Amino acid sequence: MFDLMIIGGGPAGVAAGVYAARKRLKTVLIAEEIGGQSVVSEGIENWIGSPKVHGTELAKMFAAHLDTVKGDVVTLELGQRVTKLAKIEGAFKATTKNGSGYRAKAVLVASGAGRRKLDIPGAEKFENKGVTYCASCDGPLFAGQDVAVVGGGNAGFETALQLLAYAKSVTLIHKHKEFKADPVTVEKARAHPNMRVIAHAEPTEIMGDQFVTGLKYLDKDSGEVKEFAVSGVFAEVGVIPNTSFAEGLLELDAIKRIKVDPRNQRTSVDGIWAAGDATDELYHQNNIAAGDGVKALEDIYLWVKKH
Ligand SMILES: Cc1cc2nc3c(=O)[nH]c(=O)nc-3n(C[C@H](O)[C@H](O)[C@H](O)COP(=O)(O)OP(=O)(O)OC[C@H]3O[C@@H](n4cnc5c(N)ncnc54)[C@H](O)[C@@H]3O)c2cc1C
Repeated sequence: MFDLMIIGGGPAGVAAGVYAARKRLKTVLIAEEIGGQSVVSEGIENWIGSPKVHGTELAKMFAAHLDTVKGDVVTLELGQRVTKLAKIEGAFKATTKNGSGYRAKAVLVASGAGRRKLDIPGAEKFENKGVTYCASCDGPLFAGQDVAVVGGGNAGFETALQLLAYAKSVTLIHKHKEFKADPVTVEKARAHPNMRVIAHAEPTEIMGDQFVTGLKYLDKDSGEVKEFAVSGVFAEVGVIPNTSFAEGLLELDAIKRIKVDPRNQRTSVDGIWAAGDATDELYHQNNIAAGDGVKALEDIYLWVKKH
């Protein structure tokens, strides 16, 4: 039986793990891997203390920090996916995909989020045949080709910037007139001669034979359906929280994020905290996730000492 179980190895889980080690809380950190979502980023330029760091480098820094402080206090269980979290007598139990079970007095859910899939005809059929969700992984395959990016948030514009390094042209489609992305990132992309932006437009179909050949979209200004030729479609249409294992146990919002008290990260269940992108936190950033993890840990420490 552990004092604390941390589910997740992104910035929220790792920050909490480091604090747990320093506070000598007997902890198990269960995660598929250490690093989190931004591991695929070519350059993170806002991780405080580091002007620019590659996502894989940041993941290595996280792992090194944990390894340095964990001693025999924090046990790492990596390559594990929690499928069920349940309340048992006086504690909580997590069950993983491979059937392992872990028990702890307190739980911090820091399981983050994954990519939302495009839900239009052709998207599923052509996944990995031109439709992709990872520019860093698949971008170089489209060198010298025309590609589209769907989504006008930071992830969409960052994807476009990465693709501009090798693609012949990048067309970004965004459903609203205004962009959610930072103005600096938008301006940087728009200044590139091979960049085209179509705002106030909704993709309606991905066309192709064996591979993607084009994208149809609704021009919301004119009401016309238009199309253009591309061989790659990079979708950046939002994220889905990794919270299915806590459904029925924790109170979730309409889009399945865990509801928390932002003062201390407590959830609807006494003894369970949540931090980072898995929560109903308004802003999703590495620094915020790490800060939430630390905030939770401070509160967990006091709670564990009383129970
Ligand atoms: C492409 C991209 C670029 C980004 N760039 C930036 C940036 O430049 N700056 C910035 O501040 N933010 C950036 N972000 C956002 C940032 O990555 C997230 O806000 C942050 O990673 C959230 O951290 P987290 O710890 O809450 O969750 P995550 O990073 O999502 O980590 C979740 C962890 O939980 C594990 N996990 C998930 N489900 C389970 C389960 N069932 N069982 C066990 N383990 C599980 C995962 O393996 C992972 O270790 C970017 C995001 C993306 C996708």
